[in-house]
Amino acid sequence: MYEKRPPGCVEFACQYLKGVGEDTERPDKVGFVLDCQEFSQIGIVTVVYEYKSGTFKDSLLVKSWVQSHTTHRSPILLVPLRGTPILHATRESVRDTSFRLEDGRIVTLMAYA
Ligand code: SF4
Repeated sequence: MYEKRPPGCVEFACQYLKGVGEDTERPDKVGFVLDCQEFSQIGIVTVVYEYKSGTFKDSLLVKSWVQSHTTHRSPILLVPLRGTPILHATRESVRDTSFRLEDGRIVTLMAYA
């Protein structure tokens, strides 16, 4: 996609590369990477990986996605560059509320009613 593909993307195709989103939503422009993954603890989850520091704090797009997922009661996991990953989901939909990512970070559940 870019002149120099990030090393982590050599064997990975994000949702943008699969055709999701406008050109203005290209990962290097928005500062995050969108993925869709299945976790045994919850099922299929939209996962947003921050790769430019501060994006999660500032991005209106990320905020609106969280709002939209909350409205539609579908889970969304925000994985910041550093710090605690936050899973927005209903409490009933998560079988194990103390699960870890592959990098060892424990996911915190932000349950919506
Ligand atoms: S983030 Fe997506 S579009 Fe960018 S290099 Fe990785 S796979 Fe390609």
